Amino acid sequence: MRKTFVVLFIMHLSAYCLYGQADFYFQQRKVRPGSKEHFTIYFTNGQDSTFLPITVFRGATDGPVLGITAGVHGYEYPPIIAGQRLIQAIKPQKLKGTIILVQVANAAGFSGRIPYLNPLDNKNLNRSFPGNKQGSITEKIAAFITNEVIGRADFFLDMHGGDAPEDLMSYAAYYDHQQKPAISEQGKKMAIALGFEHIVVFNTTSKKYMKASHPSLYCSAEAFKKGIPSIDIECGKLGAANELLIQKIVKSVLRLLNHLEMQKGEKPPNKNALIIKKRFYQSSEFAGIFYTDKPAGTYVHKGMEIGYITDFFGKRLKTVYAQQAGIILVILGTPPVNKGETIVVIGKVNE
Ligand SMILES: [Zn+2]
Repeated sequence: MRKTFVVLFIMHLSAYCLYGQADFYFQQRKVRPGSKEHFTIYFTNGQDSTFLPITVFRGATDGPVLGITAGVHGYEYPPIIAGQRLIQAIKPQKLKGTIILVQVANAAGFSGRIPYLNPLDNKNLNRSFPGNKQGSITEKIAAFITNEVIGRADFFLDMHGGDAPEDLMSYAAYYDHQQKPAISEQGKKMAIALGFEHIVVFNTTSKKYMKASHPSLYCSAEAFKKGIPSIDIECGKLGAANELLIQKIVKSVLRLLNHLEMQKGEKPPNKNALIIKKRFYQSSEFAGIFYTDKPAGTYVHKGMEIGYITDFFGKRLKTVYAQQAGIILVILGTPPVNKGETIVVIGKVNE
């Protein structure tokens, strides 16, 4: 008995000496240094139930905690499939620190092939933060991510892509606020490290959701509001699981790990990114059918025709002109259009 104890003690001691850091506990379960564990967290609300698949990577040595979410929108597939690849690409034995990776934050939206919303309560998870433990399914998921992922993170990344109707040009984004220069700058460096050609600045200085009295709404805004450098990836479009874009996301996350000195290997990007400080949204005054020959990534000048809307009998209701010069970040890529919906988002490319 005593011998077993001594052997176990020596084994424990040698593991500690080897890795130099303690076990990590997530949901009362141990994740040993140099290993990863998968978790399935269940949520119920009346008749409804869903789950949250999460992978926790505990590095062999001490370092920061990085929180990553994919599938906050369940129809945005490239980040979700990139998360699946990261299970193998992140090496806990070589990792410094800890990564909490939410594989699919909106699993009901994913399985049900539903864009934007969780079909169980018809709520948009990315408008539900910080969430509510006693609320609907989506609010419960938001509260869990707020407390158990963001609440434990030193850095945060939320991964999105163009949803089912959205033709989107890939970009990284970071949160910026005049009163938070240090974490804004850290976020900027993280976003640049991802290696995307375009970087969008989320200027939050005058945003309501940054006020203490107002909910943060967005997943990564919740992290930023808590004082955590926070970035987004937007990569993928029209609900397609495009292989090149999946690889682009995996590579960018590995670059981020290299930048944060958590896992070496992926080299930093060698090109300069174009920083987009302002975005302009144009919405539709009509419901009908939208036609365009301008894909995301097209440069437009002010007044350029970018498409038109017809009624259901082919009559042209409106020609849509670019109200600003810049690059098309997102444009409706499928025919249906509804009154009040965003048709196009144009990023201003120079001051
Ligand atoms: Zn999204």
